[in-house]
Amino acid sequence: MSTLLRTHSKLELLHPLHGFAEKRNLLCPSKLQNQFRFGPNRSLRKWCRNSFVGPRCSALLELVPEAKVENLEFELPMYDPSKGLVVDLAVVGGGPAGLAVAQQVSEAGLSVCSIDPSPKLIWPNNYGVWVDEFEAMDLLDCLDTTWSGAVAFLDDHTRKHLDRPYGRVNRKQLKSKMMQKCISNGVKFHQAKVMKVIHEESKSLLICNDGVTVHATIVLDATGFSRCLVQYDKPYNPGYQVAYGILADVEEHPFDLDKMLFMDWRDSHLTDKKELKERNSRIPTFLYAMPFSSERIFLEETSLVARPGVSMEEIQERMVARLRHMGIKVKSIEEDEKCVIPMGGPLPVLPQRVVGIGGTAGMVHPSTGYMVARTLAAAPVVANSIVQYLGSEKVISGDDLSAEVWKDLWPIKRRRQREFFCFGMDVLLKLDLQGTRRFFDAFFDLEPRYWHGFLSSRLFLPELLFFGLSLFSHASNTSRIEIMAKGTVPLVNMIGNLVQDKD
Ligand SMILES: Cc1cc2nc3c(=O)[nH]c(=O)nc-3n(C[C@H](O)[C@H](O)[C@H](O)COP(=O)(O)OP(=O)(O)OC[C@H]3O[C@@H](n4cnc5c(N)ncnc54)[C@H](O)[C@@H]3O)c2cc1C
Repeated sequence: MSTLLRTHSKLELLHPLHGFAEKRNLLCPSKLQNQFRFGPNRSLRKWCRNSFVGPRCSALLELVPEAKVENLEFELPMYDPSKGLVVDLAVVGGGPAGLAVAQQVSEAGLSVCSIDPSPKLIWPNNYGVWVDEFEAMDLLDCLDTTWSGAVAFLDDHTRKHLDRPYGRVNRKQLKSKMMQKCISNGVKFHQAKVMKVIHEESKSLLICNDGVTVHATIVLDATGFSRCLVQYDKPYNPGYQVAYGILADVEEHPFDLDKMLFMDWRDSHLTDKKELKERNSRIPTFLYAMPFSSERIFLEETSLVARPGVSMEEIQERMVARLRHMGIKVKSIEEDEKCVIPMGGPLPVLPQRVVGIGGTAGMVHPSTGYMVARTLAAAPVVANSIVQYLGSEKVISGDDLSAEVWKDLWPIKRRRQREFFCFGMDVLLKLDLQGTRRFFDAFFDLEPRYWHGFLSSRLFLPELLFFGLSLFSHASNTSRIEIMAKGTVPLVNMIGNLVQDKD
């Protein structure tokens, strides 16, 4: 029996109370909110140490190898604080969002300092994207595996073939490519954590945890979900996508090698587990899988969106039950991923002095949790805006400069699009397993331009209305009644927000 599956019995023994009160298994949003103020990695460790995660989770985590810390082998040109220079742009955070902007602003000849506590670290997340999204950005060389299409199982009898190639991002290659360009464009790196920012009229001072102060004309917060510097003035009430993934060597698995498994909503693995099944019927999770070979596969049990988020422990328990039922015997785990993505919720204060991009700037797709492709596509918009206004003869600076950049990042048509996606999230939050199945049954029957466009943030408001009508017309009668019953309040809220939001 596989290590993972062996653990399962151990887990059950260790946790005789499994399945008691739902609240025990769901996270309180305010706790999650606090975690994200400290950054996802640290908060997740804290989450596991605290009582949110019981013995089942810790036993499972014991099987996972120590997180590998793999660094890129670059000689980094470092920022020299003794020179007292004011750089044009300081980018806080060296994730995909921050590096993409640093690369493009430096390409235009502006001085850039990139600040991150681990600038050489290979990004930890396993990113999946639609191939056409990366093709449009000329990044096909940054995918290490592609599948000719995807498949979604809605239940034991319904399977949808998604005729759209999918790929896994080669995060080492993508980061190396961006770093190389940054280095050759003259970007300077500073290895530290930014603690706070002080604004003066025409420049800002970034105070780092090593005592260094970086002076910059404009500051970009690209710190992901830790939202380090960007301010929010409305209650932060996102939904949460929570997932647990493993990159594993298995004895065998039942999936086609040329299709990735986008969603598997089947729940036959829970037939003998009444309480788990009941919880899954109310707040369902699905399996996402990337089969690399007949023995190597990335498997991720995912809660699409819930508020509060489903606990990691619950997700892991469902995953173990699923793998056992499918006869997937895990021989070893190369890496694991604990994924907690805040979705929807308010946008940051628009405009504000610090500019943002990526997780920190509300750019996660509120109905899907995807963001990499959208952020990489938005980086040139932010970069062009910075270059244009910093280099303009009108010489704008300070708050005026940031206001122009925010306007380009979140123009009204993008804000309206996001409002619609938040409406989608609000409907998904209300659907149980059966409702979710009915929803995706109609969704994947839509014309490709609609479902592709929705998932890749390519549809804007007039088209989104046609998308909504088309979805409604493809839905079964039960689903229509459900969408009307559960979608009316979110629809009214969306209309109210759309009416209030003016340029
Ligand atoms: C586990 C996981 C899997 C995901 N999978 C996908 C996927 O398959 N497809 C997809 O489209 N999206 C995915 N996402 C969502 C999203 O695309 C990622 O979170 C993405 O990494 C966000 O990019 P980012 O650059 O905004 O932030 P991050 O990648 O989180 O980078 C932020 C950087 O800022 C640094 N930082 C934080 N605080 C400070 C500070 N105070 N000072 C200096 N630096 C700081 C961090 O060290 C980090 O390097 C996933 C998210 C997670 C968590």
